[in-house]
Amino acid sequence: MAAVLMPEPDLTPNDLKYTALEGEEKQRIIDHINEEHFSELVGFIKAFTPLTDLSPKQHDVRLVDIYAQGIGLQVSALASLASDAPQSDTHYFIAFPEVITHLNELQYQYIALKQQADKKLRKKTIILAEKLFQVKSGFAVTDNMYRLLLSAPAAASDNSCFPASEAGYAYLFDLSHNLSLQTASNSDTAAAQRTHRYYTLRKVSTNPTTGDEEAWVDVFLHGETLGAQWLAALTPKDTVKTKREVPENIAHLQQGQSLLIADETSIPTVARLLELWQNPIAPLIIYITQKAADQAYLQDRQANPLIDDALTVLPVMNADLAQGAPLAELIAHTLTQHLKSNPIHIQKVWGALETSTSKALRALLKPTLNLDRSAMIVKGYWRQD
Ligand SMILES: Cc1cc2nc3c(=O)[nH]c(=O)nc-3n(C[C@H](O)[C@H](O)[C@H](O)COP(=O)(O)OP(=O)(O)OC[C@H]3O[C@@H](n4cnc5c(N)ncnc54)[C@H](O)[C@@H]3O)c2cc1C
Repeated sequence: MAAVLMPEPDLTPNDLKYTALEGEEKQRIIDHINEEHFSELVGFIKAFTPLTDLSPKQHDVRLVDIYAQGIGLQVSALASLASDAPQSDTHYFIAFPEVITHLNELQYQYIALKQQADKKLRKKTIILAEKLFQVKSGFAVTDNMYRLLLSAPAAASDNSCFPASEAGYAYLFDLSHNLSLQTASNSDTAAAQRTHRYYTLRKVSTNPTTGDEEAWVDVFLHGETLGAQWLAALTPKDTVKTKREVPENIAHLQQGQSLLIADETSIPTVARLLELWQNPIAPLIIYITQKAADQAYLQDRQANPLIDDALTVLPVMNADLAQGAPLAELIAHTLTQHLKSNPIHIQKVWGALETSTSKALRALLKPTLNLDRSAMIVKGYWRQD
């Protein structure tokens, strides 16, 4: 069903026209979207309301409530105001394509809104589609990083092929396609209950003999997890199934001095970014690993003469350090120490880490770097149980 979009500037969060959904997870969902999905909220406002030129430098956008019929967003002006911008908080209602009855249906409606907004704004968007790829082989890149080689047949239609020149393009793999999940894991943890895992496309190339497109997916192995069991169960010619594709939010890195912050789960994105990097200013990189041996991962990449001589990688080892504030403080300290002897003006940040670490790090970097939220994207890629 097509979306009926109803920008309603006078809506208040408690507006009785809409049915607010309730549930113990609601506040956590709202906080998560406000913390990690700011650029999407800005996109909703630009695509579906008259504020088509809204600038994240001058405005904050927050999700204030979730209704059966849509979401309520609040736009607030920051310090300096554009002349035609709202002078105080303004509320907008964005209608879902379909009414929902429970918060567990939110994700699909939110994705549908994002797809519509991205289309209007001519941005790459999430794709919901089941795809099968074939396993060709696999090998260890470093002690704990394992590379899976996948192929998509040359004869496949365009939408079965891998995007060749995008860093950070992630697929949601359905592990139940290859594992019998009743026997796969004895763990009752929330992570083990989930049967899907995101892994990033590290690189795409064409096999000169077969003409098949081949893709690398690099998986960080950290114990007897479901992801590790899935990898161990795969043999050549098996198919793997994906259900969703998510482009990474990296467009802001095209200009200016960038800082990239990655752990083992996001370093495939950084490696590909470096191979494709066209911004003449080389990024500064902070690479956090649990084991020193995995620092070698970044050496395994195609040269980029534009920046390779100017690249600085600051290694951080966190074998004994807790995720969250302790690790975030170590990362921020490493950066501060480096900037003391190498004063550069960081204008853009991209990073992806454990969720509580990324949250703590955003709070530490904000006053230091003084960047608006569209210039500093530090995401949660996994959650410490
Ligand atoms: C967009 C996106 C792209 C991603 N790309 C990649 C990628 O290319 N390669 C990759 O390896 N991962 C990637 N990840 C992260 C990956 O999806 C998660 O780490 C995944 O949950 C791991 O599954 P698992 O079965 O190994 O562990 P889980 O079953 O999720 O967790 C088992 C236990 O290990 C802990 N744990 C989970 N991840 C880690 C970790 N990294 N380090 C230490 N402990 C951990 C959990 O807290 C839990 O206690 C990506 C995530 C996102 C959101």
